[in-house]
Amino acid sequence: MFVTLIFGGNQGDRKALIREAITEMSSIGKIQHCSSLYETAPWGFESSDSFYNQIVTYETDLLPEEVLDKCQATEQKLGRVRTGTQFCSRTMDIDILFCDSRVINTPRLTVPHPRLAQRNFVLAPLNEIMPDFIHPVIHKNMTTLLSECTDTLKAEIIEKSFLNQSV
Ligand code: ATP
Ligand code: CA
Ligand code: CA
Repeated sequence: MFVTLIFGGNQGDRKALIREAITEMSSIGKIQHCSSLYETAPWGFESSDSFYNQIVTYETDLLPEEVLDKCQATEQKLGRVRTGTQFCSRTMDIDILFCDSRVINTPRLTVPHPRLAQRNFVLAPLNEIMPDFIHPVIHKNMTTLLSECTDTLKAEIIEKSFLNQSV
């Protein structure tokens, strides 16, 4: 299965934490695509601390819920404190965006990620690494979703990917 993850954080050494998280998640399988590193504005809450975000696709033999376990363990390891507030500052957030073209709705996991089409900071890097991929619920590709998205919050490349082709 190809699993597409978004990494993000707005506390601590954001770039080092994202690197560490991407490396830690490599235990699930081989990296297939990696977007550039983006600096993005907080979405859904006010903060002067901007986020860094990066999207990586891994090829894995794990089940989706096993990938989620690994995401949550990695967040914990990198100092995430769960406060119970939905949108808030954090050292590391790792979300599953896609698992191949599967549609999953369990108590712990909704895939594709339910809010991805409303978020520039997700669609910009997705459009960079998989522009033609069709969203399995909305049935539109990433380029179309990005062009139709009304989110105007900043999502800027700060470091070009040297790995955004298949490896
Ligand atoms: P958002 O999901 O809007 O980006 P968030 O990432 O801040 O918000 P969290 O507090 O990190 O939300 O996660 C809340 C719960 O979401 C997790 O406990 C997890 O079980 C659930 N969840 C459901 N679908 C997914 C998914 N596709 N990826 C990651 N977590 C998910
Ligand atoms: Ca998130
Ligand atoms: Ca999350």
